[in-house]
Amino acid sequence: MELNVAAELKLAGTVGHAELTGCFDDLELNGRRIVLTEPVRVDVNYSFDGEGFTLGGTLSSAVLMNCTKCNDEFTEAFSVDFSERFLRVGEAEAEELDCYSYTGDVLVLDKMVSDLVLLNAPMYGLCRPGCKGLCPVCGTNLNNTQCSCTPPEDDNPFAALKGLKELLKDD
Ligand SMILES: [Zn+2]
Ligand SMILES: [Zn+2]
Repeated sequence: MELNVAAELKLAGTVGHAELTGCFDDLELNGRRIVLTEPVRVDVNYSFDGEGFTLGGTLSSAVLMNCTKCNDEFTEAFSVDFSERFLRVGEAEAEELDCYSYTGDVLVLDKMVSDLVLLNAPMYGLCRPGCKGLCPVCGTNLNNTQCSCTPPEDDNPFAALKGLKELLKDD
């Protein structure tokens, strides 16, 4: 994903605006795979201040997730506001300055996009509000089918009490 800034470079202070779309490969964070199910959209304002570029805008896409209760796959949209600096310095120096580097009159946004996705993509969630999860006995997804298992503690009048005790123990 690239931003051509030839015009803005010649006229410091001019604010440019762009709406960009790009497809990104799966990303990996601490062994966890982030799969984007939609192209990344970046809506950005940018300006050159004589030294570098300031970019501000919104990034949005959607990720594939597994429900924390029933493990079903589902997609979740997300969007994040960002504000970043691009300077005409080497990569190492840019990293030290906590900004991104560019050369010529094109800002390559790929690294910024990857970083924003890694930092902001939702990781855990439910496939739907009130997901019923899996039957603890047979593993059936209770959102789709009602199995005939008897939940082990359902008939026990002390089940609720035991649950409460366990809850307190966790604290
Ligand atoms: Zn679920
Ligand atoms: Zn069951």
